Amino acid sequence: MIVRLFLLAFLCSFPAYADDPVSLSGGFIPGALIIGQTAPGNTIAVDGDPVRVSSDGKFLIGLERDAKGSLALAVNGAETHQYPIEKRDYEIQRIDGLPSNQVSPNPETLARIKRERVFITDARKADSLNTDFASGFIWPVIGPISGVYGSQRILNGKPKNPHNGVDIAAPRGSEIVAMGDGKVVLVHEDMFYTGKTVMIDHGHGLTSVYIHMDTLHVRQNDTITKGTLIGTVGKTGRTTGPHLHWGVTLFSMHLDPMLVVGEMPKP
Ligand SMILES: [Zn+2]
Repeated sequence: MIVRLFLLAFLCSFPAYADDPVSLSGGFIPGALIIGQTAPGNTIAVDGDPVRVSSDGKFLIGLERDAKGSLALAVNGAETHQYPIEKRDYEIQRIDGLPSNQVSPNPETLARIKRERVFITDARKADSLNTDFASGFIWPVIGPISGVYGSQRILNGKPKNPHNGVDIAAPRGSEIVAMGDGKVVLVHEDMFYTGKTVMIDHGHGLTSVYIHMDTLHVRQNDTITKGTLIGTVGKTGRTTGPHLHWGVTLFSMHLDPMLVVGEMPKP
């Protein structure tokens, strides 16, 4: 009897492996990244779609900008929970004085934009087995936030896509570091919109992108760790001044970097 009680207490001390099939870190807020843990071998589905579970039971859930209602999580095919999604409002951001070719590009420029977009969309398709995301994230640059995620952008008076990252204002030449461990999946010297561009794969479809850079300090396929110097702040591509635009995506879904990494440390 004593042995049996002891065994029961032992099993209950591992909630992710016994009564509770999942543990989740992160809130159900539009733009959030949730890192989940379940018992190895379990399958997970979110709103009916299976998600990759690592051999040690880690998985990722993203909430898109306009996520509403609730999210259904199923473990081993059985729905175990409905999580209500918080409401979120976004700013309206107006930017004027951009060269007109950058707001309404001519056909030649449009062709170039289309060619270059493929590099980014291809990099975001990577569904790598690695779980680099598990070692956590840091801010790539410390400085004033000059643009937030989700805001509706009006460029030279024309409504455009919502801003899908965070802008950090910092002087040209400020160091940019990798937000997490990963592999460099794109280094581009000169893209029309994004200028000098770096993308890092953090595993399971999670990538980060760093754009408008002045100099590049990594090469494609480099394996890097959180905090590795990847380049410096610049104003290459379509921008009105030096800053880092930093984006985080789960496959094609844009997440809010501020929710992914947490509060910025004081300079
Ligand atoms: Zn931006």
